[in-house]
Amino acid sequence: MAVLPRVILKRGKEKPVLRGHPWIFSGAVEKMERDLSPGEVAEVYSREGQFLGIGHVNPHSQIIVRILTQKREALEKDFFRERMSRAFLLREKWFQGKVQAYRLINGEGDFLPGLVVDRYGEVFVLQCLTAGMERLKVFLTDLLATDFHPQSIYERSDAATRKEEGLPESRGLLFGKEIPDRIEIEEYGCRFAVNVKGGQKTGFYLDQRENRFSLKRLSQGRRVLDCFSYTGAFAIHAGLGGARDLTLIDSSEDALDMAEVHFQLNHLGDLPHRLIRGDAFEVMRSLEPGYDIIILDPPPFAKKKGHLPSASRGYKDLNLLAFRLLNEEGLLLTFSCSQHMSWDLFQKIVFSAAVDAGRRVQLLGRRGHPVDHPVNLSHPEGEYLRGLGVRS
Ligand code: SAH
Repeated sequence: MAVLPRVILKRGKEKPVLRGHPWIFSGAVEKMERDLSPGEVAEVYSREGQFLGIGHVNPHSQIIVRILTQKREALEKDFFRERMSRAFLLREKWFQGKVQAYRLINGEGDFLPGLVVDRYGEVFVLQCLTAGMERLKVFLTDLLATDFHPQSIYERSDAATRKEEGLPESRGLLFGKEIPDRIEIEEYGCRFAVNVKGGQKTGFYLDQRENRFSLKRLSQGRRVLDCFSYTGAFAIHAGLGGARDLTLIDSSEDALDMAEVHFQLNHLGDLPHRLIRGDAFEVMRSLEPGYDIIILDPPPFAKKKGHLPSASRGYKDLNLLAFRLLNEEGLLLTFSCSQHMSWDLFQKIVFSAAVDAGRRVQLLGRRGHPVDHPVNLSHPEGEYLRGLGVRS
């Protein structure tokens, strides 16, 4: 094995690393053996000289090292191949060929910090979110192409986290055939067109797949309001589940244009539906009550811990507005995708909105990520999606 530079931690800072946490913050580092450049591989040691693991270094990031392994092993082809195939097997066993659009590699959650791969059938979308993974881009593309034989691999490394790593945005075709502006996928009987090149995230919110599917069987004869609809994937499930009338709200015109495409693709063009472009808070204030089901799936209000108080007020207002529009015995599916919002706090917020709205509310269930967005238990920061199903 090559001799690697060493990063030495401050006394006591090895504990989370020993328990498998992959992140080392700059404040935990006593010294680096030499100046390390972004993306270099280094060994990490405790102050007492205990070997802790090997990871990617980025001196420009708050998270100065991301540990990839706690063993002494070479971070070469076999290592990545094994991690990728482990990630693939989980999806393959779980979905048994019934789902073709899913997250194939979920960064820290699949023990590959900084690497995300979403799969839309034969098209893979790659995100290198750290300097370490950025350096490996060509290598990883080759490996994915050889082991999984996709038609194309497209890069969407334009997430905000790249900035914190000091990396520029980067997108474009990495391998295979040029891809069309719309890729069609199937999701539990619905057809969706995904704009991998220009859509939000890698084109689609794969993390809500199972929650959308749950909505389908509850929708017969219902009036449904889909707030923060993006391209209307919740609404389409509801429509195919027999909803009587659908209202979608989103601030993005592109997303709503695609939602209309989805109505046509799913032969729901004749179903009464309204697509309202605007700020969901404002639009909801202007709507008349009378919905049987309301979905609230806003973008993250608290991207940083410090934003939590104002984010909490935002979630409270939103849920209060929803309760005012909801019929008696109506169903509210309310989500937070703010990593810093805990289940407990979110539930308290929804409860306090219910109290203010004068509603008696039953909690029916909690809904988080699907299996293709696994969370490494040593890295609870990886959990971000929290949803409550309530009846009022
Ligand atoms: N439920 C969707 C995903 C929603 S993502 C799905 O299953 O596919 C959040 C959406 O909120 C994005 O489409 C974004 O355009 C929209 N958005 C962000 N801020 C908004 C606002 N203030 N009012 C309405 N929509 C907003």
